[in-house]
Amino acid sequence: MIVFGHRSTHLKSAQLRNVKCPNCETQDQMTASVYGRHVHVFWIPVFPAGKIGVFECQHCHKGFKKNGLGEDGKLAYKNFKGTVKHPLWKYSGLAIIALLICWGVYASKQKEDRVSELVQNPVMFDTYTFKTEAGYYSTFKVVEVFKDSMYVNYNNYETDRSSGVDKIDLQKNYSDQIYVLTNNDILNMHQRGDIKDIERN
Ligand SMILES: [Zn+2]
Repeated sequence: MIVFGHRSTHLKSAQLRNVKCPNCETQDQMTASVYGRHVHVFWIPVFPAGKIGVFECQHCHKGFKKNGLGEDGKLAYKNFKGTVKHPLWKYSGLAIIALLICWGVYASKQKEDRVSELVQNPVMFDTYTFKTEAGYYSTFKVVEVFKDSMYVNYNNYETDRSSGVDKIDLQKNYSDQIYVLTNNDILNMHQRGDIKDIERN
């Protein structure tokens, strides 16, 4: 369930100069209050969504919406509104999203670097997560390492998401059958981007 909506907070008020009240015709008594709307998700403000003006004549105390003002009032409000900025906290959600994206990019770069390093010198019991030709994900475990090749056991199971391999990476799921992968096979797989992760204990 996503809880989102919008709400408004008061940003700034000021007296509008050279504005006549449409009700009592008193000059220079109109106050404008600017409210900033923002969209929130789970009560975290994500981004501003416009400004609303509310007006009151200090002489006759009649309240107005923008459309109730004369041309002088509309113009004065437009100028005033231009000087009022949304506070930065209204962008909190965007900042959080940006941080999460940066963190995600950083984490995946870290993983890529680690895979590039580990793939150069395989070690017994390394577990490789790889993408199959059909686009699924599975694992194989290194059981013996030689100079130019290695023996591996393949996992009998595959999953449709790379994040799902933890669930199938169980000892009982591995075949006893030995397959030979040459260092070239591994490097080719790596160059194609098919090795998604290498776990080393
Ligand atoms: Zn008035």
